[in-house]
Amino acid sequence: MLIDFHCDTIMQLYNHRGNENLRSNPFHIDIEKLQKAKSFAQFFALFIDMEECKDLSKKPYQVALEMGEIFKKEINENKEIIAYAGSINDYLANKNNGKISAFLTVEEGGIIGNDIEKLNELCKLGVRLITLTWNYENSIGIPAADGRNLGLKPFGFEVIKTMENLGVIIDVSHLSDKGFYDVYENTSKPFVASHSNSRSICNHPRNLTDDMIRKIGERGGVIGINYCPAFISQKAITTVEGIVQHMKYIRNIGGLDVLALGSDYDGISGTLEMKDVSYNYLLIQELEKKGFKIGDIEKILFKNGERLIKDVLK
Ligand SMILES: [Zn+2]
Repeated sequence: MLIDFHCDTIMQLYNHRGNENLRSNPFHIDIEKLQKAKSFAQFFALFIDMEECKDLSKKPYQVALEMGEIFKKEINENKEIIAYAGSINDYLANKNNGKISAFLTVEEGGIIGNDIEKLNELCKLGVRLITLTWNYENSIGIPAADGRNLGLKPFGFEVIKTMENLGVIIDVSHLSDKGFYDVYENTSKPFVASHSNSRSICNHPRNLTDDMIRKIGERGGVIGINYCPAFISQKAITTVEGIVQHMKYIRNIGGLDVLALGSDYDGISGTLEMKDVSYNYLLIQELEKKGFKIGDIEKILFKNGERLIKDVLK
């Protein structure tokens, strides 16, 4: 039982196209591993590296569409086990049918350039969450990786407004601190940090300050805990104990209802104690060991995620 708000598995499949598939592969996530983990839903990101696109003279939006085709094909080829979900009703129907839900997301809002119509297109294609920036400045705003701490651009404000109207989840992971507050002050629905941790526990600009954690919690949003070693303890390994340390801290600051999972599987390197998604049972064991009650564990693993899906998607 789990809902994971972020992975880069589609990027791996795109980079290894023709050789690997979603059913069974050497990556962190495949359908067989999701089954072992008893996954309820996996959010699959179309991650686009804008600089790489420039080097290869490829249009970022076109690359996203090509990745989207891979997503569609893989889901279709495994439709007895996994099915697309674009709403809470899709999700619940899949769950009732014993199927894993596959949500589609975009990591790098800059692929739409300055064209708001592309946002409508992405939504029509099934995208239900967009990470506003990756590590580069884009048409929407400035990332945490940029030292200047500038926020959203005028077009970025139009983007978040349109996303709220469309019922597409706004994701502030990777965004600058200033950008975070621009989102907070100019939206009314819950939003997420799909794959970020606590900056007080691990001082990295990709992680969230206590005030941000509180604000996401107050709004009814969720924070997906990222398993990347650099965002857990800056050691070379991520232990389950390290993950639970962030969870305990974030619970104490923002409340239990803010916690969710955002593994970042297939987008991170380094040693992981939970080597792939099928090792999720280690997390459950550690949470029990650290005194989390079963109801609390269920909230972290999937119930908070279900609430968010219900509250934001149309
Ligand atoms: Zn990311």
